[in-house]
Amino acid sequence: MKTIAVLGATGSIGASALDVVARHPDLFRAGVLAAHRNVEALAELCAKFKPDLAVIADASCEAALRDRLRDAGLPTRVASGAQALVEAARDDACDTVIAAIVGAAGLASTLAAARAGKRLLLANKEAVVMAGALLRAALDEGGGRLLPIDSEHNAVFQCLPAEHAGLDAAGVRRIVLTASGGPFRGRTRASLDAITPDMACAHPNWRMGRKISVDSATLMNKGLEVIEAHFLFGAPAEAIDVVVHPQSIVHSMVEYADGSVLAQLGNPDMRTALAYALAWPERVDAGVSPLDLIAAGRLDFEAPDRETFACLDLAYGALDAGGSAPIVLNAANEEAVAAFLDGRLPFLAIADVIESALESTPSAPVDTLADVVDVDLTARRVAQRMIASAKG
Ligand code: NAD
Ligand code: MG
Repeated sequence: MKTIAVLGATGSIGASALDVVARHPDLFRAGVLAAHRNVEALAELCAKFKPDLAVIADASCEAALRDRLRDAGLPTRVASGAQALVEAARDDACDTVIAAIVGAAGLASTLAAARAGKRLLLANKEAVVMAGALLRAALDEGGGRLLPIDSEHNAVFQCLPAEHAGLDAAGVRRIVLTASGGPFRGRTRASLDAITPDMACAHPNWRMGRKISVDSATLMNKGLEVIEAHFLFGAPAEAIDVVVHPQSIVHSMVEYADGSVLAQLGNPDMRTALAYALAWPERVDAGVSPLDLIAAGRLDFEAPDRETFACLDLAYGALDAGGSAPIVLNAANEEAVAAFLDGRLPFLAIADVIESALESTPSAPVDTLADVVDVDLTARRVAQRMIASAKG
């Protein structure tokens, strides 16, 4: 029996994860559930999954959550605040942590889970982008294992040998990440002038949280994933390619020295990646319908439009620059996307804000979590100033 902490339990990944957990009560039990501030949704999940510990990150919600759980007669422990997330990630109530908080808010708990030697199921790509090297060191220290949940990285993981001493030794030549192209694939830059948040969040193939949906629309999601692949698999930027595949059936590929290309295919449903990682090295039912290739009919591939979707190359540039640049990229993107979702920034200005933030912040070395947090906060302030002036 594996005991699971779902950090970000009320989100899209959280829901998919708990769906798989509920299908296999003999294999998995939710020991910890954590969310930001939706007391109602978290209390309902607690009533269903009866975890040992529930964490609400916004401390002003703790009393309401406590009342709800007491009224429901649940013995669940309750904690609140950002530090409680970190403690939950190393709590004895879980041996497996699903890092499914969106954005930099998930960094500290992700690192804590790694350092505590938990099996780490990682969806929170922003944490890897910000602190890939620190995460690797934390995993080495804790001795636990990371299993990628992001569908592309889960696919790459599945296409690599189970144990290998680096990509070169394994004969890997190239990692090919697939991208759906998002809701605006094929559009010209000029036609993206009046995009609203709801248009940007209407993804053709996946139902996801609003932040990652906007990232998919700008192609920053793929940019973050290139950096994520670099840190997770030790691949240099030149060995990570992006190909647009609108059907989202081929989730990514690994090309070997002999010309073989291994791909992982499946319907676009995150429960496959979650079930794979939860059960690894076994396989269990994920509740996902079988892939019908005849119904799908065709699989198309095309080059990404790097001019219209400038965020992809901004991410490659940040990976090349190294040091603090990926942190600046991520922080400016989080601020710009939040402003866009709030109606404070036009869609096309998202890339401009990130580019200016990168240009005005020379890359510096980062060695500690304190360095990461420092760069992150500074970059957010820079981005906020640019957002305010872009509006005015
Ligand atoms: P979401 O917005 O649906 O859910 C986010 C979760 O994080 C919620 O449970 C929310 O309560 C929690 N959260 C937000 N801010 C928090 C804070 N300050 N403290 C504590 N908890 C907080 O997002 P999502 O789509 O589930 O994505 C989650 C992560 O997984 C993101 O990093 C995303 O890039 C990654 N991811 C998602 C998908 C997908 O299909 N949704 C696919 C690949 C990767
Ligand atoms: Mg992905």
